[in-house]
Amino acid sequence: MATIIDGKAVAQTVRGEVARGVTAFRAEFGRAPGLHVILAGDDPASAVYVRNKEKAAVEVGMDGKVHRLPASVGEDALLGLVRELDADERVDGILVQLPLPKGLDGARVVQAVLPEKDVDGLHVQSAGALWSGRPGLVPCTPRGCLRLLDHAGIKLEGARAVVVGRSPLVGKPVAALLLDRNATVTLAHSKSRDLAAICREADVLVAAVGRRGLIRAEFVKPGAAVIDVGTNRDEAGKLCGDVDFAAVEPIAGAITPVPGGVGPMTIAMLLENTLIAARARATAARQGRG
Ligand code: NAP
Repeated sequence: MATIIDGKAVAQTVRGEVARGVTAFRAEFGRAPGLHVILAGDDPASAVYVRNKEKAAVEVGMDGKVHRLPASVGEDALLGLVRELDADERVDGILVQLPLPKGLDGARVVQAVLPEKDVDGLHVQSAGALWSGRPGLVPCTPRGCLRLLDHAGIKLEGARAVVVGRSPLVGKPVAALLLDRNATVTLAHSKSRDLAAICREADVLVAAVGRRGLIRAEFVKPGAAVIDVGTNRDEAGKLCGDVDFAAVEPIAGAITPVPGGVGPMTIAMLLENTLIAARARATAARQGRG
């Protein structure tokens, strides 16, 4: 029987910490951290994600705004808005909700965000900083995975870690963070041969693929910590991960459920990133003046 890692509870704790951090920031700098989200188009899933982010930011006392734009918005207008937010002193974090509507180059728009306001951690400068061990903002979901492993008391130093999935959003930054914590990391992907044998080596197994039930019992070493990032739907439309939970849970030492595992951590980490960005910017501004 595995320990079930309760992401909802950990996320709640983080949100409480951020709320206290916002109060302290306000007392020190005379304003609240500002998070601005750009939502272009009418993708229903994106609309829900953005509404949840907006609500969470208000709950912890942050300022900010959701900039809702029609799907017909041109790339120049979108880039113009990003540059306006880049230049606005009260804006600490800018998040471009992806995917953008057809015809808009999401990567190009994200690169227009100032790295110090890149609270999604997707700018190439943020990614470069992460892999070079330099300070920078780190993508939210990967930070959430590490926070859950720490919460569960999983020893990372010297551990064999396998990350399945190599996207710039999840797999690669998770691998970088695990490496930074002295795990021995393997990144597996759709072309990996004998995925089950690779995964079975893992003391820490992170699944970030988007394929329901990909990780079965024979993929898991007894006692391993299993972090399931995947968000999929079953035939009944129920949310489920990449891990066959019922088969893996009796073998694993610790496991995140879906829902209630990694998912709630993503917004909590976005709030934390915004507070980190706000503190860094406000401190630099004060030093610049002093
Ligand atoms: P992605 O960009 O589609 O990347 C998926 C990765 O999985 C790719 O590297 C792909 O390999 C690999 N892959 C696909 N099929 C595979 C297979 N059969 N065996 C091994 N590897 C395989 O997805 P993503 O953005 O990283 O997201 C991954 C999952 O996490 C999705 O379900 C997404 O919804 C979820 N997610 C959840 C949260 C959250 O807050 N909970 C946040 C972000 C993402 P190749 O590179 O070779 O194509």
